[in-house]
Amino acid sequence: MSDAARPTSTGVPGEVAFGEPLVEVEGLEKHFSNGGGLFDVTLDRSGGGLPRVVREEEVVRAVDGVSFTIRKGETLGLVGESGCGKSTLARTLLNLLEPTGGSVRFKGEEIREMGRRDQRRMRRDVQMIFQDPQSSLDPRMKVGPIVEEPMKAHDMLDADGREDRARDLLEKVGLDPQHYNRYPHEFSGGQRQRINLARALSVNPEFIVCDEPTSALDVSIQAQVLNTMRELQDEFDLTYLFISHDLSVIRHISDRVAVMYLGRVAELADKEELFENPQHPYTQALLGSIPVPDPRARGRRGVVEGDVPSPINPPSGCRFRTRCPELIAPAEYDLGEDEWARVRTFMRAVDDRRFESTDPSSVDAQFFPEGRPDGEAGSHVDEAVTLLAEEAWDAAAALLDERFAERTVCAREVPDYYVETEHGTNDHYAACHLHR
Ligand code: SF4
Repeated sequence: MSDAARPTSTGVPGEVAFGEPLVEVEGLEKHFSNGGGLFDVTLDRSGGGLPRVVREEEVVRAVDGVSFTIRKGETLGLVGESGCGKSTLARTLLNLLEPTGGSVRFKGEEIREMGRRDQRRMRRDVQMIFQDPQSSLDPRMKVGPIVEEPMKAHDMLDADGREDRARDLLEKVGLDPQHYNRYPHEFSGGQRQRINLARALSVNPEFIVCDEPTSALDVSIQAQVLNTMRELQDEFDLTYLFISHDLSVIRHISDRVAVMYLGRVAELADKEELFENPQHPYTQALLGSIPVPDPRARGRRGVVEGDVPSPINPPSGCRFRTRCPELIAPAEYDLGEDEWARVRTFMRAVDDRRFESTDPSSVDAQFFPEGRPDGEAGSHVDEAVTLLAEEAWDAAAALLDERFAERTVCAREVPDYYVETEHGTNDHYAACHLHR
């Protein structure tokens, strides 16, 4: 079925012509406590006397309050930089990792509360395809028995029936059924991923979680595998959660897209809406970093600056605030837009120690060519410039953080908004205070 024939919006806000909700995720959390001996050491100065050393176990907040619904028949694309929690989310959603909190319902039933029989049925209805097609196939087994394995595990069909179905599935995923007796190493990477697909389909699942399934493949092969997946989705009435760090792949396969950043969803909307009308600065930066085919446009545009912060002690409020080019000015200072933009750049440069010289006149020339801000904000900048002249980098960074970054609404409140949709009628979620 072509894109044009796929289900579309119904015209009712928040509603789509896909089926019933199949997977409902609400406030899902997966925290790992670092019990391996790494501790955060802090000084407790309460109670008078000498400070006491407190050793706190570190908690990695890999997934930290994620909610979305996937409807029957649709593909939800999940995109984000590596390390943002996408794969942990997928494994937690499938109960392969025990959630720390929140809920996941499959066909209306809470996964964690399912009895053994329902769990077994769910393991058949839900399949997963991984990134590396090589390592997920047993090199000592022939392709036919590999495809038959899940059917055997779920007591499906007799031996002849399983072989017939395996040959049939090999053909459906674009392989020669005659290759039933070959070994995985006799196939290319793309073909091996097709074998994985056939194996996942063998038990007639409803929902397939695809974790970077085409990332290890050449670009030309990627498109062929994605097209096959799309065709199979229609033929087998499948629902996909498709995880990738690659926006082009996500654009090719998804109906709706969730953008993930540091354990949380930053934005979620219909594919067209997200690509044509992105409303979160992180999504905008990601889209800007897609390579441009125009040879006159050199390199990449708008690459997100800085590194993803550690999920051990993530930024308060908006997780993206330490890198956000639009960080909102603290309301208590009377700063014009340009003035705040200069302070923000200065603050980030102090954090990253990106200076030509720490001499005050050079700092002014680099960051405040039109003069430092007036008033209270200006006196904080003055203080930071003085500290820099003494090479007290950490003190200057801490001062700017405390006087500016920590005082913004971005640091104080977790953003959670729905914005107006321009393309289609489905909800458009954007976790950014610019939409207050
Ligand atoms: S809430 Fe603030 S820091 Fe976060 S994306 Fe929006 S403007 Fe940027």
